[in-house]
Amino acid sequence: MKALFSLSGIRLGTPHIIDFKIHVPARSIQKSAKCPCCAKKSKYIHSSYVRILRDLPMSTHCVSINLTARKFFCRNPDCKRRIFTEQPGDEIKAYSRMTNRTRQRLQSIFLEVSARKGAYIAGLISLPVSPSTALRFVDSLPIPLIDKVRVLGIDDWAYRKGLSYGTLLVNIETRQAIDLLEGRDGVALKRWLKQHPEVETVTRDRASSYSSAVSAILPNAEQVADRFHLLTNLSDSVYDAIRHEYRDLSNSLLEDSPPQVAIAPDISDEEPTKGPGKEKGEMNDYFKARFDKVKEMLKDGGSVKSIAKSLQMSRNTVRRYSKMDILLNKGIHVRNNYNEYQEIIEREFSEGKNITTIFDSITKTGFKGGRTSFYEQFKDHPMRTNPEIKTLPVVKQRLMSPQKIARYLRFADLSKIENNFEREIMISLFRKNTILEKLQLQILSFKDLLLGNDDSLLDDWMNKTWAIGTFQLQTFVRGLRSDIKAVRNAIKTNWSNGQVEGQVNRLKSIKRQMYGRAGFELLRRKVILSKAG
Ligand SMILES: [Zn+2]
Repeated sequence: MKALFSLSGIRLGTPHIIDFKIHVPARSIQKSAKCPCCAKKSKYIHSSYVRILRDLPMSTHCVSINLTARKFFCRNPDCKRRIFTEQPGDEIKAYSRMTNRTRQRLQSIFLEVSARKGAYIAGLISLPVSPSTALRFVDSLPIPLIDKVRVLGIDDWAYRKGLSYGTLLVNIETRQAIDLLEGRDGVALKRWLKQHPEVETVTRDRASSYSSAVSAILPNAEQVADRFHLLTNLSDSVYDAIRHEYRDLSNSLLEDSPPQVAIAPDISDEEPTKGPGKEKGEMNDYFKARFDKVKEMLKDGGSVKSIAKSLQMSRNTVRRYSKMDILLNKGIHVRNNYNEYQEIIEREFSEGKNITTIFDSITKTGFKGGRTSFYEQFKDHPMRTNPEIKTLPVVKQRLMSPQKIARYLRFADLSKIENNFEREIMISLFRKNTILEKLQLQILSFKDLLLGNDDSLLDDWMNKTWAIGTFQLQTFVRGLRSDIKAVRNAIKTNWSNGQVEGQVNRLKSIKRQMYGRAGFELLRRKVILSKAG
């Protein structure tokens, strides 16, 4: 049994159990000890005492090593130390109250979870410690020296979102997070780079404080703009462009729709919970009353700002109401997916089915609204109000968000859009707006460009994108031109910041696990040292 506890340099006595705790007597096997001051050996014992050291548990029992530690005289006349305590074996550190293997095991746990959880888990395996001890354990872990880094990935992350940011450094070749710096202004990065002149390649976000820091300290390092960020930035520009075009896009859909069918206003930012009533009908009345009130106040000369304030609604909503003549039944539109069933409803209605049958059949295929809301939405349908209309082109009552349109532009094949309603809208938008087709082509070809390795196509791509004439995309192209070398490298080389992105996510999860209260240094330690997270 003794063999189970073996510690190098230490002789163990016979273990015995007292109160579910295993006690193992121990002493050093050495006859003499080295003075920590002058390193001279001494065998003159002054006295001895027992040190209690916690060891790894056995079964459900705590284990303590009861080490007889001796004090020696230093007989070196030149040494100022008279008496010293021996430090036996490699497993026991001076002043420590546990064996090294125990500390290491606990540290590995505490690195992966919060101090509170760590203390709880340690308690479960018979190694009880307090959360504050757990925290100290991680604090005392040394951060290993950073190996030579050839390819460095840099990205920023939010320490306190919108308030303070940090910089994450990743060794792209070994795929390890190697350091965490405070700020993203490049100041700390410059300091770091000065100590790492060996860096040959840096992957990073678009031209930023990072790129100027790298150019300043390591002018010969090759800079690579990150492909992921380039694509994201293009998507953002396209989204902005679509927002800019949104009104025209809406109107173009309206052109060949029957006159009764207006595009429903988007009042989704007016939350239904703000309303006093819970019933669907009441909700509508509520919105209607608010709408009328806005109209009335506008007529009386109220400003958007003052109306918004007195009615406690967003200025955008007031502004939108001001442009509308009637309020459509939006309270219902917000809550159900009626629009997706327009096709079925119209087909069945034209086949002469009654509304109860139609309601049953759309409910079976997934309509989420109730009977009343269905009637409410269907009652003003042009096919009902005007018996002349027997069939309708697919009616689009509402354009989806600019965000969605931007996302669908990334589809090479629009017929792959799963949502029937949205697919139809996209196809009809494409028919009427050549700009969408151009945008889609540029998005898809940019992706190809980044995935290929021929940067000679880049100029042509930038020229074509510029020629579309959209301000937002021209800004994007201007950005590319200002960082052209790094953008070309993004196409030519295979280095990518993709895994830095992964490391940023890992960092976020570690931060969350500490409930966002982590000090910077603790977070840094965990990010560099954690194995599991
Ligand atoms: Zn000495």
